[in-house]
Amino acid sequence: MPGMMDTVLNVGLCTATIPGFIKKTNNPRFVWDSYRRLIMMYADVVMEKAEGIEPKDGKGIRKVLDDILDEFKHKKGYKSDTDIQADELKQLAEDFKKKIKEVLGKEFPDDAKEQVIGGIKAVFKSWNGKKAISYRRIEGIPDDWGTAVNVQAMVFGNMGDTSATGVAFTRNPATGENKFYGEWLVNAQGEDVVAGIRTPSPLNDDTKNEQNKHLKSMQEAMPATYKELDNIRNILETAYKDMLDIEFTIQESILYMLQCRAGKRTGTAALNMAMDMLSEKLIDEKTVVMRVEPAQLDELLHPICDPAEEKKVSVLVKGLPAGPGAAVGKIVFTAEDAVAWHRKGEKVILLREETNPEDVEGMRAAEGILTARGGMTSHAALVARGWGKCCIVGAGGLHVNVAAKTCKVAGSDVVLKEGDAVTLNGTKGAVYVGALKLMDASENPRFKAFMTIVDKFRTMGVRTNAETPQDAAIARSYGAEGIGLFRTEHMFYGEGSEQPLFLLRKMILSDGKDERVKALKELSVFVKKDIKATLLAMDKLPVTFRLLDPPLHEFVPVSKDKQAELAKALGISAEAVAKRGEALHESNPMMGHRGVRLGITYPEVSEMQIRAIFEASVELIKEGKQPHPEIMVPVTSDVSEIDFTKKIADKVYAEVCAALGVKSIDYKYGTMIEIPRACLLANKMAKTAEFFSFGTNDLTQMTFGFSRDDTGGFMNEYLDNKILAADPFQTIDQEGVGQLIEMAVTKGRGVRKDLKVGICGEQGGDPASVEFCFKAGLTYVSCSPFRVPIARLAAAQAALKGNK
Ligand code: PEP
Ligand code: MG
Repeated sequence: MPGMMDTVLNVGLCTATIPGFIKKTNNPRFVWDSYRRLIMMYADVVMEKAEGIEPKDGKGIRKVLDDILDEFKHKKGYKSDTDIQADELKQLAEDFKKKIKEVLGKEFPDDAKEQVIGGIKAVFKSWNGKKAISYRRIEGIPDDWGTAVNVQAMVFGNMGDTSATGVAFTRNPATGENKFYGEWLVNAQGEDVVAGIRTPSPLNDDTKNEQNKHLKSMQEAMPATYKELDNIRNILETAYKDMLDIEFTIQESILYMLQCRAGKRTGTAALNMAMDMLSEKLIDEKTVVMRVEPAQLDELLHPICDPAEEKKVSVLVKGLPAGPGAAVGKIVFTAEDAVAWHRKGEKVILLREETNPEDVEGMRAAEGILTARGGMTSHAALVARGWGKCCIVGAGGLHVNVAAKTCKVAGSDVVLKEGDAVTLNGTKGAVYVGALKLMDASENPRFKAFMTIVDKFRTMGVRTNAETPQDAAIARSYGAEGIGLFRTEHMFYGEGSEQPLFLLRKMILSDGKDERVKALKELSVFVKKDIKATLLAMDKLPVTFRLLDPPLHEFVPVSKDKQAELAKALGISAEAVAKRGEALHESNPMMGHRGVRLGITYPEVSEMQIRAIFEASVELIKEGKQPHPEIMVPVTSDVSEIDFTKKIADKVYAEVCAALGVKSIDYKYGTMIEIPRACLLANKMAKTAEFFSFGTNDLTQMTFGFSRDDTGGFMNEYLDNKILAADPFQTIDQEGVGQLIEMAVTKGRGVRKDLKVGICGEQGGDPASVEFCFKAGLTYVSCSPFRVPIARLAAAQAALKGNK
């Protein structure tokens, strides 16, 4: 949890110990510098945060004390903290203590033991601090793990010009390049680097960039110590066989290693490092598969700035490329605003003075993060990178005014305001005014090679939910092994839907079967065309066509124009159309006249769809193709419903084969499992159904009794109050809904050993749900096209974990 837990440095300095420390070190400036740092950190972490005090943005004690320091430097004309003299630091410490008493109403403790105990308690308490809780929620870390506290002897990086502190990664955490990568600061303490207070110097030539190239690298300033550090880098990588994040301090030319842990990295870096380490024979293929988080793949498929568009515009300001890819959004200046705007459906860029771990929730909600100060290893840059967020830090040309919600840009007369659109190129560190065009970053050969390894270990199938030949083709290019859900009603929405929608409406509002059949006949031309194109895009692979599901009133026109147009076509009055529409109104349509119930009241609708599927298949067979359609009946709760529709399928099958002169069509007949009763009676359902597909959107709705369209009003409170650990519409509720799934699989396979079982609810692309589906013995998961690689990786990881 980088930066999410608190730290206090230099604990123990007080009236009783300071004189001895000065005597021992013979360096009063260093001692008073350490003391003023202790006062600042202690007041912030122990006396304010741990006490649950939540001052307004910019009013926290840390900021108040920082302002005193800045004002002092300004008055004296000092550029850096290191210009401040010993007696001045001593006086600043006194000023700080007075201010703390004034703001927090308590004395800064002048007792070493009291400071140690206060520090320990505060670190324990920081487990329940706002930022740590938010981070755990986002990362799925359980609250009950708790934390330990390290009490560690100090080494000091602020002892003068032969001392320093730094943070490094054994490889580049943004790109994965095998180059030692880091930042350091002479005469400083660790928090100066990670808190983004000073823009740090580069560790070596490889770390130099536009912002820091004028600063001396450690490689140049302390070549022998740098060599020692570089050697340690190699020892650590060989031992841990991973990219590590290390923190070090140099005290009077002696190098001390403070900590090392597996480093946070972007998805691009994770993939590149894993593939490099495989060729370096540091890790094997199984480890390669486990090294990339499934969700990180998302970032590899994410957009980048269209280079042609980018060439046409000039850069507004440059910063450090902390998180790659591109992001477009409207500027907001606080984390709270980022969350609020995101909830309203706005895409935002969080613009802050400096990267601050307090902002995690806002950072998460934003498309991209932009800061005026801070370095590549600042905690927030690190966190953003871990999430694969586009992020630019240290854009020094930005002068942020949080109170006014504006930002001046040095060297131009541009003033950015809240709501202004900007584009970030996180790979280059470039910021542009306005919304630039973005493009896909697919077709990456490394990504393809990685996915080939992934598939060696995957045993569960991955299909896609797709309704258009275009989506089917994209999903296929991402490795989908068929379509797990084709929602037939989708041809009535969006582009090209005018004519079929008109005919569907005609069918819905027709008076009696004859009129309906006539309308269906006209409609069937479009339906067959749509089905055929999709079967062709998925040639040789299975395609599950779901019979019409939504309540019909969803398609009835509400506008007077459309009603009049329909009235004319049907030869009735507009009033009659309105009346027929009203008659379809239901109090609770999600549990009303939908799914299989439509096919039972209007068997001719199912018949038309089934005929279209078979005829399209036969046409393709005759064209030398190999279609594998699957007919799926939605929202069933009893085998009799499945039997009812099966009779229609059998009749149409025989008719189509005879009429078109083919012996057989390879097809399967099955049902969605979306109602708890269907799970309880799965042994009966499987007598007719050759496959089940869990519609976990509806199954979750019906199991919890939560309307899937209305959870916005309460879900956040359920999560905040820990009533639920996660939103069950995003990740399967394994305890409840999961139990129903397991039961249905066991009961179903009890009567039909080769029963195919899949999932096609939204959770099908969620890595934790994929792992659950693997454990429950599902044949495949089906998810949206862009989540197919994620599901493939999650399935391979589940198989590897299962075989351990
Ligand atoms: C489901 O219920 O999970 C499902 C996939 O169907 P729909 O979302 O179309 O109701
Ligand atoms: Mg459903």
